[in-house]
Amino acid sequence: MNQDKSVKAYEKACRVIPGGVDSPVRAFQSVGGTPLFIKKGEGAYLIDVDDNRYVDYVQSWGPLIFGHADDTIEKAVIKAVKKGLSFGAPTKAETKLAGLICSLFPEIDKVRFVSSGTEAVMSAIRLARGFTCKDDIVKFEGCYHGHSDSLLVQAGSGATTFGNPSSPGVPADLTKHTLLAKYNDIKSVKECFKHSKNIACVIIEPLAGNMGFVPADPKFLEDLKALCEKHGALLIFDEVMSGFRASLKGAQGIYGTVPDLVTFGKVIGGGMPVGAFAGRAEIMDSLSPQGPVYQAGTLSGNPVAMAAGLASLEQLIENEAVVYASLEAKAKRLVEGLKSAASDAGIALQVDAIGSMFGFFFNDKPVRNFADALSSDTKRFAAFHQGMLKEGFYFACSQFETGFISTAISDAMIDDTIEAAQKVFKEMA
Ligand code: PLP
Repeated sequence: MNQDKSVKAYEKACRVIPGGVDSPVRAFQSVGGTPLFIKKGEGAYLIDVDDNRYVDYVQSWGPLIFGHADDTIEKAVIKAVKKGLSFGAPTKAETKLAGLICSLFPEIDKVRFVSSGTEAVMSAIRLARGFTCKDDIVKFEGCYHGHSDSLLVQAGSGATTFGNPSSPGVPADLTKHTLLAKYNDIKSVKECFKHSKNIACVIIEPLAGNMGFVPADPKFLEDLKALCEKHGALLIFDEVMSGFRASLKGAQGIYGTVPDLVTFGKVIGGGMPVGAFAGRAEIMDSLSPQGPVYQAGTLSGNPVAMAAGLASLEQLIENEAVVYASLEAKAKRLVEGLKSAASDAGIALQVDAIGSMFGFFFNDKPVRNFADALSSDTKRFAAFHQGMLKEGFYFACSQFETGFISTAISDAMIDDTIEAAQKVFKEMA
């Protein structure tokens, strides 16, 4: 497979963009090689600048549940563009999208739109702190909530230790209010509550997608909710990735545990930059201009982005029963096929899939938390990634990411993927 034009484009980009990419995860650093430069997307396929076609299991890291260049979303966007790109004043589309979300979740009264998942989570944390008049927050090792300062705390420290910033440029003063707990381990959260009486909120990815794909135990989420209630802390579900992905109601729709606040991103914008946070009126009304907690955005609720989000969500609501059942069946077909292909080659693979999210670890033990995830064989993952790319299948370029199925991916494409994986696993073994 010739990737010369991508290599040249990357060299050129590196001269004017740090690392040649605008988000580090795109940089193929953990799998070797250079990132593919994309010319266009078509349904299930990504097409690079060398005209290679790949079945895409990344889908812009989650937003494209209907695949690339979905007709309905494209038409809605073009219609909105013709009326103007941004007004900095309210439009009815914002109310419509917020109304759709409120009608899906009985516990959500109000929604505020922003332009990214990072912004949604950062704002929800500020709101939780403002509402509870407390400063500390609890996050879990291995969960990613965007790159805002207080959440950029690397996993690795034990429970109850105040976090250390994981990036230069984040003052320790800012992360000292972030306590780390262990995913799927309620004892570690209890320790946090013992350690601090000043906890505003506990934030979690209820289906963790940023240490690879690691679902929470149902009982763990229930216990978390009870613990938060007992201590007067808010429970925040970060559903930036799982929202409208795992099910129409995200992880909440699967587990039934109801958080106090929820954050959305990715699918909610249908491929355009949209994030949102939402919750009960008593909490949301603390936001400016109604309440004292300040939060704002020039492009928040942008009309073109709202049009894409509406077109995406309306299609999902209309076709809920068919869409999610079929996506999950495909995700399971894929991971079961990968597992058995790996096993035929004597390679241990842990797999999981819920809704349109899937993951696999090169590990001989089940993965339930970040430490387990880190014990996976990343060299094997890199070899798999490179091998599959050569065969025309585009997986996320890290062992610690989640894969996505779109409605554009067919059973036949999945079977082709499994066949290619059989070949790649054999070469690896
Ligand atoms: N929260 C979760 C769970 C995510 O997966 C991500 C991004 O992958 C974010 C927050 C940050 O979203 P964004 O990249 O849109 O800022």
